[in-house]
Amino acid sequence: MIAIKEKFYITTAIDYPSGLVHLGHAYEKTTSDVIARWNRFLGNETFFATGLDCHGLKIQRTAEKNGMKPADFVKKNAESFHTLVKEWNISNDDFIMTTEDRHKKVAQEIFKKLNDNGDIYLGEYEGLYCTECEAYYLEKDLKDGKCPVHDKVPELIKEESYFFKMSKYQDKLLKYFEENKNFVLPLGKRKEILNRLKEPLKDLSVSRTSFDWGIKVPVNEKHIMYVWIDALTNYLTIIDYPNEKFKKFWPADAHVIGTDILWFHSVIWPCILFSAGIDPPKTVFVHGFINTESGDKMSKSKGTVIDPIEIGKKYGADSLRYFLVREIPFGQDGNFSEALLKERVNNELANDLGNLLNRAIVMVEKYSAGKIPAGKTDENLQKELNLEKIQKHMGKFELHHGLSEIWLFVNAVNKFINDKKIWELKGEEQQNALYSITDSLRIIANLLNPFIPSTADEIAKQLGTSLEGANACKFNLLKEGTNVNKGEVLFKKIE
Ligand SMILES: [Zn+2]
Repeated sequence: MIAIKEKFYITTAIDYPSGLVHLGHAYEKTTSDVIARWNRFLGNETFFATGLDCHGLKIQRTAEKNGMKPADFVKKNAESFHTLVKEWNISNDDFIMTTEDRHKKVAQEIFKKLNDNGDIYLGEYEGLYCTECEAYYLEKDLKDGKCPVHDKVPELIKEESYFFKMSKYQDKLLKYFEENKNFVLPLGKRKEILNRLKEPLKDLSVSRTSFDWGIKVPVNEKHIMYVWIDALTNYLTIIDYPNEKFKKFWPADAHVIGTDILWFHSVIWPCILFSAGIDPPKTVFVHGFINTESGDKMSKSKGTVIDPIEIGKKYGADSLRYFLVREIPFGQDGNFSEALLKERVNNELANDLGNLLNRAIVMVEKYSAGKIPAGKTDENLQKELNLEKIQKHMGKFELHHGLSEIWLFVNAVNKFINDKKIWELKGEEQQNALYSITDSLRIIANLLNPFIPSTADEIAKQLGTSLEGANACKFNLLKEGTNVNKGEVLFKKIE
């Protein structure tokens, strides 16, 4: 499982801080974090970006409704996103807010590039605008005259506007899709976009004069940049476009997003980049929504919205990280409830993993005076670990399969203990069996580190070893004679 050292750049979408954090934000950050940590585990030079999309009419209006200035409103709401990142142990390398000067500079620079390239012209736009989406809708795309996402009647807006000649890039975009089968994943989502691309692309209105909470258009300060042009360029800002870090990490290896913003990322964004002479991202990965246990949309009015910070405090980040990654096939919708969480935490984390470690440490204390014995890991047990399969799943963003595959090995070690009846063995045979278990747990800790990092650390600590990534996932590397450190149980059962 030794990877060639490569660079890896992954981003979440930048969240819209018009309200507080919800479980969907936590899910997107967690899954992206697992992928980022997996790449670090492989030895890849990894950059993981997340942040907030702070501009636009909707923020301006919500701030006004709350009697606040947009800048103060954004700052206040940003706090809960920072808390989420911290509490859920998200390992982002930077956190961007589009109100920062560094971003303003890059967004304007990109706009200038499009303009210099002759792809920007002044016109007049009239259209049905959903302020929630920050997007215009065509009559035919509305549902009963309402925004299909927000169920609100859009406003008819007419204004002078700059346009981006997106239509010019349709063929180039289709060619990019053709040559890059993994550009949009899962494949069902790719198909959806390709279907929509059968119709001619329209030029995109990229500026507004009707509000002022945003970045000014560099060629005409009466105009504010369309919030999506502003927001998408964050992926360049955060890696210091056009300098060294950008040169190293661009193109992004994965933008992880929700399905509601797929069009912006898979059509508008690559067209902007084409015009600016920058390569498009390699993959846009669309994750699913998290619903209630009965499969309904979480809703404020029904009181089914989950505060990720609150449940994070209640159950611990690793339990939630494990649950979300294991329970919900990445790329599909899934359900969440505390009952479902309890089942997985009690059966898998507390029993399968927690008890395994506990039994191993207790036996080392009892039969080997608290020291890792000399020994060799059982060859049949070694065969139960399929690293290639785990790696293959993870490379295809099948995080749930990757984790399940690791769990097969956890349970193989449990079975090994029961089958061998270590307490009945003597001498070398007993030592080898003990060594097999602790050496396997060491590998398990390394493999689980991207998923449940605090737990992985604790396992390593109790075994008297440290986490070393993919290169440590070979058998017989645990040092004999090391003292084990019995600690707290890994997971308390949820009552
Ligand atoms: Zn909408």
